[in-house]
Amino acid sequence: EEPPAALAVPQAGDPSLTLLGRVGVVDPASLDDYRAHGGYTALRQAFALGPAGVIREVTDAGLVGRGGAAFPTGRKWQATASQPGHPHYLVCNADESEPGTFKDRVVMEGDPYSLVEAMTIAAYAVGAHRGYLYLRGEYPRALRRMEHAIGQARARGLLGDDVLGQGYAFDIEIRRGAGAYICGEETALFNSIEGYRGEPRSKPPFPVEKGLFGRPTAENNVETLVNVLPILTMGAPAYAATGTGGSTGPKLFCVSGSVDRPGIYELPFGATLGELLELAGVRERLRAVLLGGAAGGFVRPDELDIPLTFEGTRAAGTTLGSGVVLAFDDTVPLPRLLLRIAEFFRDESCGQCVPCRVGTVRQEEALHRIVERTGADAAADITLLREVGRAMKDASICGLGQTAWNAVESAIDRLGAYE
Ligand code: NAD
Ligand code: SF4
Repeated sequence: EEPPAALAVPQAGDPSLTLLGRVGVVDPASLDDYRAHGGYTALRQAFALGPAGVIREVTDAGLVGRGGAAFPTGRKWQATASQPGHPHYLVCNADESEPGTFKDRVVMEGDPYSLVEAMTIAAYAVGAHRGYLYLRGEYPRALRRMEHAIGQARARGLLGDDVLGQGYAFDIEIRRGAGAYICGEETALFNSIEGYRGEPRSKPPFPVEKGLFGRPTAENNVETLVNVLPILTMGAPAYAATGTGGSTGPKLFCVSGSVDRPGIYELPFGATLGELLELAGVRERLRAVLLGGAAGGFVRPDELDIPLTFEGTRAAGTTLGSGVVLAFDDTVPLPRLLLRIAEFFRDESCGQCVPCRVGTVRQEEALHRIVERTGADAAADITLLREVGRAMKDASICGLGQTAWNAVESAIDRLGAYE
């Protein structure tokens, strides 16, 4: 099923923007158009710097992962590159599935060659000759555009045995997800590519040491990778001058819900939540904002001065995650929304470990009793929710179980839900 034609991207094509500047401007099917708008300058710069030089630039730029976890990209690449033996792999995680997240889709649909170029640079840096693009199954347009871009790049010597005539071999294979949220977890994603059930592996060992097919693997989100292009073209110091000390560069935010202009917004890290919502046209009677998606947390309308940085949201007791900002006015029935989030986690739990497999079911049941008023004692159900939530957070194998209680917990503690 084809999703709606175009997502609202209110800032698309603004030449002053670093990541969205080409979206809506270039023809996504044309490699020549991409090159005419600065494409492949960064790869040339990468070859001039050499793999170690690329990793140094990315490290000095302070780039951290945009999938949600904010791990330093330079450290990940250095750790992968320094592993002995071959092969090494590069995996681009485009299984964007966090509810409310659609930034990677906009990049792949609007500027697909940027991802091909960025994957080539990342692979070169970590010593990989094969890359996998794991693409969310529900993104058919992104799939078509990425397939076309990869094919054109191959035909024009920008992928293949001798990339840009530099004697470096690299090619990309696309693998489609099949609708499981858990396959966005990096090790479940590796299992899926390898043909096994999409179940997370225990970490450590981390993928940098033992990843896809048991080999050293650099796994990065789409947005993380495309940030490497401005880092190489403008240089690490200029890139690091944008944003804050702890969160450098630009960030894509996915704004939806009770706003007049939903869509993807690019802002330097450090803008406040209120500034972003103003751009998106926040409606009156704002009741709550969910930051970081279903795995994130709610904040109140009197907390809009929270700076949108990884460290700023952490200090405020919440999370930036992948940049989801879901606004809710007072027409949205919050208890039902929480029940919907609980259903989502119960549905998407892979069932491998007990705390999450059982905990997500118990969480949904308790919320159902509270919402439908079928329980004897709502206060006892909230106590139960806290106990189950703590067990999931402490004892689940992966991020899904560890974060499945975040939204409910923040709604109870910060918003006074169910009072
Ligand atoms: P994590 O903190 O376990 O790991 C982050 C990355 O750093 C991983 O690639 C991991 O391999 C690497 N890493 C961590 N410690 C390392 C070490 N010591 N040495 C080498 N590498 C190391 O987080 P995670 O479970 O991979 O991801 C959780 C995040 O995913 C959450 O913040 C959530 O917001 C986000 N998320 C995003 C989406 C989406 O659609 N974009 C969906 C669900 C969750
Ligand atoms: Fe599977 Fe949930 Fe355990 Fe993750 S926490 S491994 S999703 S059961």
